Amino acid sequence: MAEKLVKCRYCHCKHPEDRRPPEEMIRGNGFTYYHAECAKERDLINRIVEYYTTNVDDRVTIAQLRSVVNNIIFKKKVPAEELLFDLTYVHQHGSKINSPYSLHYIISNKKVQNEYKKYLETKAPIIDISSIETSEETQFVYNKKKTGFGDIF
Ligand SMILES: [Zn+2]
Repeated sequence: MAEKLVKCRYCHCKHPEDRRPPEEMIRGNGFTYYHAECAKERDLINRIVEYYTTNVDDRVTIAQLRSVVNNIIFKKKVPAEELLFDLTYVHQHGSKINSPYSLHYIISNKKVQNEYKKYLETKAPIIDISSIETSEETQFVYNKKKTGFGDIF
């Protein structure tokens, strides 16, 4: 008998026609299945949205936020993990994030990009107080104002 094969339900799946036995997939709600990498990306995107609505602005328009997040991940090809790190990092360092569009500036900020590289190298937890150097932080704020980013975040 032919084995039952399932497709990935993730709407941004990179292999939407791929069919596999259910046991090779991650099970979602009901009879939905996802590739492991798709389930991970979907989870990270949900965590980004949740972090933003919980910590930055609970009155944000979710559709607008999701649209910006999708644009960054699927058009600009920034990994979901990187966007989650950047958002968390900037928020925890006291920079104000005015709207979802600020995320475009956050991902292209050199200081934040370097912090993400360091994070990947050390695989340190996202919240690591011991790695924060006061002098660097001051420099960051100073540079931001100097380049006119002051109110953008
Ligand atoms: Zn998939």
